Amino acid sequence: MSKLIATAVIRGANTLVKRAEEMLKKAIAAHGEGYKFEFPDTAFHLPMIYAMTGFAVKTLGDMKKALEETKTMLHSVPEEKLWRPYLGETLDSGMATLFAEEIILALRYIEGLEPVKDAETGYVYNGFITDTIQRNLGIQLVDGTLPGFAVVIGAAPDDDTAVNIIRELQEKSILTFLCGNVKGNNVTKQLLRKGIDLGWDTRIVPLGPDVEHALYAADWAIRASLIFGAKKPGDYKGHLKYQKDRVFAFATVLGPMDDIIWTTGAGAINMGFPAICDSDVPVIHPTGVCIYEEVEKELDHTKIVQKSIEVRGLKIVVEKPPIPVAFGPAFEGERIRKEDMFIEFGGQRTPAFEWVRMRELGDIEDGKVVIVGDKWQEKFEKGGQMPLGILIEVAGRKMQRDFESVLERKIHSNINEAQGIWHMGQRDQNWVRISNNAKKDGFTLEHLGIVNAVMTHKRFKSIVDKVQVTLYMDEKDVLAMLEDARKSYKERDQRVGNMTDEAVDTFYSCLICQSFAPSHTCVITPERLGLCGAYNWLDGKAAYEIDPTGGNQPILKGDTIDKIKGRWSGVDEYLKKATGGAVETMNAYTIMDNPMTSCGCFECILAIVPEANGVMIVQRGHTGMTPAGMKFSTLAGSVGGGTQNPGFMGIGRNFVISKKFLFADGGLKRIVWMTKNLKESLKEALDKRAAEEGVPDLLDKIADESVAEDSEKLMEHLAKVGHPALEMPSIL
Ligand code: SF4
Repeated sequence: MSKLIATAVIRGANTLVKRAEEMLKKAIAAHGEGYKFEFPDTAFHLPMIYAMTGFAVKTLGDMKKALEETKTMLHSVPEEKLWRPYLGETLDSGMATLFAEEIILALRYIEGLEPVKDAETGYVYNGFITDTIQRNLGIQLVDGTLPGFAVVIGAAPDDDTAVNIIRELQEKSILTFLCGNVKGNNVTKQLLRKGIDLGWDTRIVPLGPDVEHALYAADWAIRASLIFGAKKPGDYKGHLKYQKDRVFAFATVLGPMDDIIWTTGAGAINMGFPAICDSDVPVIHPTGVCIYEEVEKELDHTKIVQKSIEVRGLKIVVEKPPIPVAFGPAFEGERIRKEDMFIEFGGQRTPAFEWVRMRELGDIEDGKVVIVGDKWQEKFEKGGQMPLGILIEVAGRKMQRDFESVLERKIHSNINEAQGIWHMGQRDQNWVRISNNAKKDGFTLEHLGIVNAVMTHKRFKSIVDKVQVTLYMDEKDVLAMLEDARKSYKERDQRVGNMTDEAVDTFYSCLICQSFAPSHTCVITPERLGLCGAYNWLDGKAAYEIDPTGGNQPILKGDTIDKIKGRWSGVDEYLKKATGGAVETMNAYTIMDNPMTSCGCFECILAIVPEANGVMIVQRGHTGMTPAGMKFSTLAGSVGGGTQNPGFMGIGRNFVISKKFLFADGGLKRIVWMTKNLKESLKEALDKRAAEEGVPDLLDKIADESVAEDSEKLMEHLAKVGHPALEMPSIL
């Protein structure tokens, strides 16, 4: 144990506790001891103090008590001549530092000084990390999408070095928090100067400009053991062990050290998080408190990320396809604005599709990428818009036709994880953009094929032996192949068409959208497919068989609580766990009472039209007005986000033809308005279902945009045709 480090840590802790005391005194003088405080959106008070001591700090008076307790952990700096072991005192001081920093930041919140807004750039730092984000990230940590997290403190020697370090962390899927500064400069500013997108979507989260802001990261970590680890407040041993064993965090310190960095680092070491510095510091190598070394140095910035990962004991295998841009889940949240876009495909602008088709082993050539089109290179070089058909053909001894849609859904990640390439939607509603930067880096159409071929192999190695990708670039070819693709989508949808919810004892969840809508879980039953339309019950089953720890998990139905509304004990139990308590119960067959939550990628929105005693359905891509008085885009803003909104619901388009569609609300006869597009695409099945319901001419009675775009005209139409909804019991 270095005496220099121990001295700096103990001195730093004393400084911070004193600062906290002075600030608290002023705050009490201004607001009184009874003044209440809580960090934004947390149920855990001052989380570090709460987890370690069990004491819930709710007022300024409570902060005073907590600070008194903190003082008992302070020590005197080591004496010059007399040698004594001081590891314990150093660690005590580190913990005192975390408590003091938590109180300082809480007081700064009270005075409106947090989150910090940078005076020079106007950039607003993240500040405290809310419980909502915590729960969202928790799932990604559990499923391995986020293998660990780094707190990068200070500033790199130059902007390019900062970018390289952060890019390497992103490529390794590490969530990166930024804080601290070196003479006013820091990695946040360095990245901003280089035009790098910051925020949760890109996994680079600036917490604040001072070292003390690292406490927000520590607060995030400690809530993992409270929320996910079920450790009790006050069980400090349990919490610290959980942190060391399960929360793979480390600090990378760029620039010179000072007392505050050392003492904050000592707080982190308590939690098992080592610090790796880029300066010539004394090191602490004995293991025990951390898995390996506690303090290490690496002067070479090209090696500091790898060294940090090794010291924390993380095992990260980067599966990067051979493409000229970075690749990894950290890039999945990137948006490509129109002005940054080189070319786009689909998105209702050009014909497009994506389709995975199973073939025999002898039919395809593994790894082959074929691009079909007249002068496609020249057209691509011009940028703008182009048609695009992506056909991925796969073969394998364990491959089954039922797995096609599971592989197909992963096209979203295959493409989106490439830096500068963006993907949305699925099947014949897909939309792809390539950014100017990606084009400049050399990304071509061929790479679009390669990324799908390589990643399909990697993600599904247990079932896929061969993958061949064909890209169709001419409109006539895309339209011709689209016919076949649609037939295949339809066949898949029909395969589950004859199954019933009563006939199975297991449903499947889909948690894929939780990265966007943390409290959203699709419950997929044989008679209700996922909101995006890409996952039905068979897909969920297949996905679970392919990857038992993946995003589709079995849900044992349990007892039927309400067979009319579609409520089961096992589903309720599952939802509570999967949404961290945000959703307690759900009814699968009604829009009015605890309906399923919606994320953001629903194919259609179902909305109540109270005056018509029925519902309307509008699909994504419809730009006209609806009788609800809102366009699809406005409706989508109020439906999504993983909340339950009685009267509004996102659905997959094929749910409309299910026998369980609004079963508790009166079924199909409730539809008073739907777009022409939906009527036409579902006509055959809708007519069949309407006949089964005893209203064979229902489709003619349902209004569309050619008849009414407002509720007044809708009501006239319904009265004229004698729509059955007008005679049904009130939907409200
Ligand atoms: S909408 Fe539902 S089924 Fe579709 S990807 Fe999202 S969670 Fe899965």
